[in-house]
Formats: sequence, structure tokens, C-alpha cells
Amino acid sequence: MMKRLFFSIALLMAATPVHAQAYRAIQGDMITIEKELPKGALTLHCFGKTWPSIRTETGLAKAWIGVDLKTRPGTYPLKWSVTTPKSGTVQFADKLSVSKGEFRISHITVDRKMAVFGKEELKRIRADQKRLKNSYIAKVDAQPDLKISGMPVEGIMSTPFGAQRYVNGEPRSPHSGIDIAAPEGTPVITPLAGRVLVVSEMYLNGNTVAIGHGHGVVSVFSHLKAVSVKEGDWIEVGSEIGEVGKTGRATGPHLHWGVRFRQARINPVSMIPVKEKQHSPTSAPPRL
Ligand SMILES: [Zn+2]
Repeated sequence: MMKRLFFSIALLMAATPVHAQAYRAIQGDMITIEKELPKGALTLHCFGKTWPSIRTETGLAKAWIGVDLKTRPGTYPLKWSVTTPKSGTVQFADKLSVSKGEFRISHITVDRKMAVFGKEELKRIRADQKRLKNSYIAKVDAQPDLKISGMPVEGIMSTPFGAQRYVNGEPRSPHSGIDIAAPEGTPVITPLAGRVLVVSEMYLNGNTVAIGHGHGVVSVFSHLKAVSVKEGDWIEVGSEIGEVGKTGRATGPHLHWGVRFRQARINPVSMIPVKEKQHSPTSAPPRL
């Protein structure tokens, strides 16, 4: 009798369904999801890409997804695969709805040479972009978590993520990072450990450092006055990487901080857990 009861409970547990979940995000968000899934090797697909997934200490499946700034608002399938040698691959389907970000319009006025480019400048700008693009796909040892403890510099958010930019009245690509205004020389620290992938003086971005954090996450810090790291260095969280400056195309001293996650343009602020966000910079009116 007792034996039969145990057998029934075991059967019930085995048959417990994995509930489909619906997640929400805004354009530019990095989201973290956790789900109860059977034991086995995990894979997660969304937006035609694979996203990093791990098992937590309690055995939950945990994954991070980057919703690119220009993702069309709508509902997207999110597919988990769990593979075991015994039962092969089993799939589980969730959903992710993406809503439109409320992005501001930002106007800046700069010297003509920073708005209209000749052949030589264009060549340099393209080479700079290529260096950064290559860094987005570089392999780096993964960090155990992708949450960050705070901002790389103390200051005021002068241009938020996603702002539609106008340079000397001409529309340009949306702002793929955040700008934090701070006095020249203010130390910039890395809010997540990683490998320095690029140190370069770029035409538009000025002195730039790109750091790979693993899992396909890369931070780009631009317009630095001074850089205190070199390519190949491993940088621990909280270490100084340089100083705030106004090199490249900048109307005043500020740090531009952009994050790419498997090439998706991510709002760095979305990587800060909610309770830490109270310490993030306050929004200020745009510098015209
Ligand atoms: Zn910027």
C-alpha cells in the first residue's frame, strides 16, 4: 500500500508540467530570467540568437537576454532546450513581449569637421567602428553574473539611452549608450570585471576603452581624457580604467558608456538591479 502511494507521488512529480511564462521588456533592456526546468544541458533561443544560460545553486535555469534598441515592439517566442543523454532534447516555449522605449530627442551643435566628414575622416571613422565591432564578438572568460553594482563614474546623466540625436540639425543614429557628465579628470571605474579588448584614440569617440565581460557582453567607454589600462589587461570590478574627458566629438567633459550584448545595443542602466538604481545619476535637461 505504502509502496503504491510512493509510486503514485513519483509519477505525479514526473508529470508536473513546466508552465509557459510571459516576460516583459522595453527596447534596450537586458533581462534576467529564472525558470524551473528539468535537469540537463540548457540552451535558450530568442531573436534568432542563443543567449547565455546557467544553473543557479538551487538548480534553477537562469539566463540573460539582450533586447536591441531597435527591436520592433511585439511578442517574440523564447525557446528553451534541455538535453540529457537519456531523454535527448526536450523543448519549452515561453514568450517575451517588447514594448517601445520612451526615448528623448537630443540636439548638439559641434564644429563642422565633427559633423561633415571628408574622405580621410570617413576612412578613420569606419576603421574605428570596425575595431569596436570586432570586439563585440571576441571570446572572453565569462563572469558568473552579469549584474553590476553601480555606475562607472559619479555624475549627471546628460544624454539618456536611445535618444534620437540631431547633430547640427541633421538626424543621426539613436544614442546607443548613456552620457554621464562629470568634471574632467574624474576617475572612471569598471562596474564589472573583464578583459580590455580595445584601447584606441578614435575620431568621434575620442580615447576609447572596450572591455569584454564574457557571455558576449562588452562595455565601451568613450571621450576619456586619460586611459590607465592596456589591451589584454584583466580588470577587476571597481578598478580605474581612465579619466573623464572631452576627446573626440564632445560638447563638454562626459563619459559615454555603451554596452553590447551579443551585438544588441543595451541600456547599461538595465544591468543595475532595481534596488541599486536609486544611486544612479539623475536625469538632467539636454545640453543644447
Ligand atoms: Zn554618448
